[in-house]
Amino acid sequence: MLSEKMVQLGTNRSVIRDLFEYGNKRKAEIGAENVFDFSIGNPSVPAPDCVKEAAVELLTKGDPVALHGYTSAQGDAGLRQKLAEYVNEQHGTNLTGDNFYITVGAAASLTISLKALAEPEDEFITFSPFFPEYRVFVEMTGSKLVVVPSDPKDFQIDCDLFEKAITPHTKGVILNSPNNPSGVVITEECLKKVCDILEKKQKEYGKEIFLIADEPYRELVYGDVKVPYLMNYYDNTIVCYSYSKSLSLPGERIGYIAVSDKAKDWKEVYAAVCGAGRALGYVCAPSLFQQVVARCLGKTADVSVYKKNRDLLYNALTEYGYRCIKPDGAFYLFVEALEEDANAFAERAKQYELLIVPADSFGTPGFVRISYCVSTEQIEKSLPAFQALVESYR
Ligand code: PLP
Repeated sequence: MLSEKMVQLGTNRSVIRDLFEYGNKRKAEIGAENVFDFSIGNPSVPAPDCVKEAAVELLTKGDPVALHGYTSAQGDAGLRQKLAEYVNEQHGTNLTGDNFYITVGAAASLTISLKALAEPEDEFITFSPFFPEYRVFVEMTGSKLVVVPSDPKDFQIDCDLFEKAITPHTKGVILNSPNNPSGVVITEECLKKVCDILEKKQKEYGKEIFLIADEPYRELVYGDVKVPYLMNYYDNTIVCYSYSKSLSLPGERIGYIAVSDKAKDWKEVYAAVCGAGRALGYVCAPSLFQQVVARCLGKTADVSVYKKNRDLLYNALTEYGYRCIKPDGAFYLFVEALEEDANAFAERAKQYELLIVPADSFGTPGFVRISYCVSTEQIEKSLPAFQALVESYR
């Protein structure tokens, strides 16, 4: 007998992966330049030069044994110390290398953090729309994912609904800002309310409720928008970070977990993170890329390309009659489908070679997600197809 749940997860791909595979097939049939693939969040902007420079220097001048050898299970001590100094300088925190655990990207940061916290009967809250893998990650621990709909007018958190959703079983809250798929950055005002509610509920139930900040898009914001650093607002915070988007390194699988030094019994929380990393086999993230990111702290890929894409797509689509919120961050546009069933809408979009993701699995039916981390040229070429699609409904 096999695990039925795992067979099911392995057999039924996510809707995003399905569309991505369809896109590859379609590109082989009619040519890549004729398919407008907005399915997946794979950055089109290359990694900044520091990545190549660091990798070349390390590979040519570094100690090959150390470079390809194991580091400590929780990551190289030098990198963890540098990370602590960098985060302290950016956000005024008081972290040391012992607050950091290096991971293979945000997915691992999340699964490790959840595994570290979860006990039977626990619940984790998140806000829709949400990154669909949260359901998989939470349920894998035997816990329940509780979804609280965001305020439909601006996709900020609906604090009344949030407060009502917290129960004595709530172990944690997963908060993703800038958000995939809405592109919304949660305001400081809204965050403060969320933290007040959490403090109140911790007292009421006499237990810790952890805030898990999923932050792979922290640096991808446009204009003067600020992304508040959650450790400065709430003590029981665990930050899940990744270089997949900020340095355009999704395939290298590198990121980290930072446990706040103000969390209750933080050393024990950190020990649980190390234990979960061990139990899941997520020890010693790739050594070469640990060294590379250590040399690229504070650098990002060219975010101005995403801003240009956002402006181009948002302005054109709203002019054609589509309805969506202007995103402040990440690289997604979250658009109302032009018919009730977003799946039918996304199917119709395929007739125009537009690959857009229906948002049912993001917990918000009636919407589609458009990933604009593609070339600006692709967006320009796709605009007549978006116009034809909207006209087909008139
Ligand atoms: N969290 C969110 C909100 C994401 O959008 C993604 C990837 O797209 C991840 C986590 C996983 O990131 P990684 O590729 O670093 O594992």
